[in-house]
Amino acid sequence: MARAKDIASIRQALQRRRREIVRVSQATREEVQALKEQERDPEYEENAQVELADYTLSHLVEAQRRELMLIDAAIERIEGGAFGLCIDCGQEIIMDRLRALPFALRCEEDAERNEAELRSRGSMATPTL
Ligand SMILES: [Zn+2]
Repeated sequence: MARAKDIASIRQALQRRRREIVRVSQATREEVQALKEQERDPEYEENAQVELADYTLSHLVEAQRRELMLIDAAIERIEGGAFGLCIDCGQEIIMDRLRALPFALRCEEDAERNEAELRSRGSMATPTL
């Protein structure tokens, strides 16, 4: 049952990370909102800087949204019992790999094979998990 215990602790870490992202992304959204309001102020002359900050923050929001999706998918797999099983060969992914890459969907061997296939097809790096 060591594995089940390890997975439970990964799940806890994912949930902690999830709460953290929700908190930070709330703050980020408020910043974007504040910038948008500032932009409407005709007195405000540093528009280029506002645009740059807005652009940076939008990307941050996007990255946070993507990470939340990955976390939710991993938690769903934990709840459904599919977590830690390679989607290609069905074997258990070793715990060291899961600890380092909790979103991993493939065992190391299949991840490498998948990456090599993607590369040979010339498609631009979809990160292999
Ligand atoms: Zn595999």
